[in-house]
Amino acid sequence: MSKIRTKKAASTTKSTAIKPSAKFSQRVLKWFDSHGRKDLPWQEDINAYRVWISEIMLQQTQVKTVIPYYQNFMQRFPDIQTLSNAEQDDVLHYWSGLGYYSRARNLHKTAQQVCEQFNGELPASVEQLVTLPGIGRSTAGAIAAIAFSQHCSILDGNVKRVLARHFVVEGWPGQSKIADTLWDYAEAHTPKKRVADYTQAMMDLGATLCTRSKPDCPNCPLNHSCMALAADEVKLYPGKKPKKTIPVRSTEMHIVVNSKGQVLLQKRPPTGIWASLWSLPEGKSTVDNFTKGKATSWPVIRHTFSHFHLDITPIQYKSNTASAVMEPDQWLWYDLNKPAEVGIAAPVTRILAKLKA
Ligand code: SF4
Repeated sequence: MSKIRTKKAASTTKSTAIKPSAKFSQRVLKWFDSHGRKDLPWQEDINAYRVWISEIMLQQTQVKTVIPYYQNFMQRFPDIQTLSNAEQDDVLHYWSGLGYYSRARNLHKTAQQVCEQFNGELPASVEQLVTLPGIGRSTAGAIAAIAFSQHCSILDGNVKRVLARHFVVEGWPGQSKIADTLWDYAEAHTPKKRVADYTQAMMDLGATLCTRSKPDCPNCPLNHSCMALAADEVKLYPGKKPKKTIPVRSTEMHIVVNSKGQVLLQKRPPTGIWASLWSLPEGKSTVDNFTKGKATSWPVIRHTFSHFHLDITPIQYKSNTASAVMEPDQWLWYDLNKPAEVGIAAPVTRILAKLKA
């Protein structure tokens, strides 16, 4: 134990103190050769565009959720030019349900920027990649390593967990000091050869073996050297985010259904929550032109953002005013049976599904 404590102390020092062992990457690559995932859709016909889209989708989202979205997205936007020329609504529609919509808006912006500034080719260097909207250091490293075989490191959530446990790096990785230490470990252990395989292997290891709640240490290729396992302290790593209570806000969403059974949607402003997505109108005065008769309140639905809970009370009306004057880019009569291809805010999707049912 005392030896492990000494290493814990070392783990918060600068990268110059890290003495990487080649065995680390050798074990990871050997495991990858026999157990790594090699048939994921983005592992076929590898190019920078396909790697980029998969990396953005995989942020905060599990592989099995991403696969059908990725396949549909690639079918609709097979290359960066097609994505760059698409309407933002179309891009958001193909993202509907994946959440964190700023990722989709940034994808679209980046595609346009790459077509304008880089002749339609994603750049190969991390320095240039990180200048593009929505591409952080880890995503840039993954694109450079997997698509361009550059000697670059990644540090996504899975890799942070593996490294924090293996090298007993204390503290919450969301803190920049802790993230810097983990980057030092990531860079020190990335091999010069087979960097694309190693990158994929580390992501796989974190996703399939070194999982958050049930790490499969007996089958892990790093179990002989893992310091958290040796100390029987795997559950302590990575450190948890300090708890904070978040405020609760509330709103009403008005469900106006016309005589054709269509539901009134309003486009959200281009900034703020659910930016540019379609949603149910919120202010009563905004739906006064459309509503007649008695309203029915539904039970409250809670939607949680990172910084607040939103309690939504849906209020349903019947309306006969399908001909009311409407600006078409702001208002939409949404047909539940023939849905328009537009991006819709997540809780509104739930409300519409309930309405249809
Ligand atoms: S031995 Fe266990 S805790 Fe350590 S890296 Fe492997 S799976 Fe993670």
